[in-house]
Amino acid sequence: MSVRVRFAPSPTGGLHLGGVRTVLYNYLFAKHHGGEFVLRIEDTDQTRFVPGAEEYIFNCLKWCGLQPDESPVHGGPYGPYRQSERKEMYRQYAEKLVADGYAYYAFDTKEELEQMREECKTDENPSPQYDHQVRAKMRNSLALTESEVKALLDAHTPHVIRIKMPQNDVLSFTDMIRGEVNFQTGLVDDKVLLKADGMPTYHLAVVVDDYLMKITHAFRGEEWLPSAPVHLLLWKYLGWDAYMPQWAHLPLILGPSGKLSKRDGAKYGFPVFAMNWTDTKTNELTEGFFEKGFLPEAFINLLAVLGWNDGTEKELYSMDELIASFDMKRVHSAGAKFDFEKAKWFNHEWIKKMPAEKLRVQVAGYFLSAGIAIEDVEKLDKVIELVKDRCTLLPDFVQQGGFFFKAPETLELDAVKPKWSEEKKQFFNEYVDVLKTVETWELTVIENAFKELAAAKNIKPGELQLPMRVMLVGGKFGPAVFQIAEMIGKEETLKRVEYALRLL
Ligand code: GLU
Repeated sequence: MSVRVRFAPSPTGGLHLGGVRTVLYNYLFAKHHGGEFVLRIEDTDQTRFVPGAEEYIFNCLKWCGLQPDESPVHGGPYGPYRQSERKEMYRQYAEKLVADGYAYYAFDTKEELEQMREECKTDENPSPQYDHQVRAKMRNSLALTESEVKALLDAHTPHVIRIKMPQNDVLSFTDMIRGEVNFQTGLVDDKVLLKADGMPTYHLAVVVDDYLMKITHAFRGEEWLPSAPVHLLLWKYLGWDAYMPQWAHLPLILGPSGKLSKRDGAKYGFPVFAMNWTDTKTNELTEGFFEKGFLPEAFINLLAVLGWNDGTEKELYSMDELIASFDMKRVHSAGAKFDFEKAKWFNHEWIKKMPAEKLRVQVAGYFLSAGIAIEDVEKLDKVIELVKDRCTLLPDFVQQGGFFFKAPETLELDAVKPKWSEEKKQFFNEYVDVLKTVETWELTVIENAFKELAAAKNIKPGELQLPMRVMLVGGKFGPAVFQIAEMIGKEETLKRVEYALRLL
């Protein structure tokens, strides 16, 4: 049987890095086994509809290079892939469960539910659930007579369908990461399966769709573990247990204090979402890794090793290498701590590995936002190669390479002044005169002229290089100074040195 996995997000907001890691592990597992990766949109909760959220998910997956084989956009043999478009499929299964005695109609109004919660509330049980202890006292098809139920149904009384959780069973399954996991059914409430508006809840829809879409392995965040007993029973009650996917519940990603949250990101200044997300209600912007200047290769790499390793010390992996070596058994069951400094290290390593032509478009974009329009792509590529070792995030290219295209706006003269002298000024005045006569503007020519003049004046070239650097670059950074002079050209070099000399 060929492997089929799915990522099943509810499109309600930004895509957290834990969510991307879930997609990634699904994707790697599928590709490792030559299987299919399905993207299914779980949008049955109409009250949580957020405009743009679905498109945002597609964009994030595209940026990460995690393209689904089947999805609402790509289509596929088991569509539709949006649960709201599958609405009609679910009712029959909920009705079958009622007919077989595994589920029941519940007619309780909001007020009746609130009243039950109020009445059953105790110190030990502050938020009572709708379960085997209370169901006999409520207005449902288990408590009412057959004719009462018929009358309510005939009158189209709004109702939901709830699963009837057994009072005293122990359920178990083998999680691919955690091993055997057990549940007491008596502790789980009678979850709603079909809502009054005819929409299934997540619990019913996830089981029906995983079955109909022939999903073989289902990987999801560990926050879904408490729902597993409900799902286990549905697989069984619907007679599909032989087809139940193998499950893996992925551990949490931890921040500085517990589960990594949006708030941690805001507090400590690092992104938590894959791409920028603006809350549609509050207008609050949460920064994304993309906009922060991460390469997708680095983002994928750092997520892959956040909770998984291949048993060696290796840390840098391309997508192909990950596909080849990924193994669900090597995913740790304990939460993995996110470290932004380490995340930046990955990005730095990936920037160093990338050829200029792969960085060019994005780097040019950052330059443009900084007011530098790139006309000479060949020059841009050279600049990228020259400075990429000094860049951790993509916007760093502006700081590290902007001076190749535009004279610095400020000069860090304080770094020069303490050791500045008349002699040095004289040196630079004469050097300018020498440079003006240079015909072939080449690194060696510029450098030799500098060294010869320094020797003639008995000044150590090292003492002159810092001032020269500040004159050309604006500060104490950048690649070799004569390389910079060569790249920016004769006219620009002379202009910058002469300008600085007027200030010194
Ligand atoms: N719709 C669920 C979510 O938003 C999916 C959980 C699952 O993968 O079963 O995370």
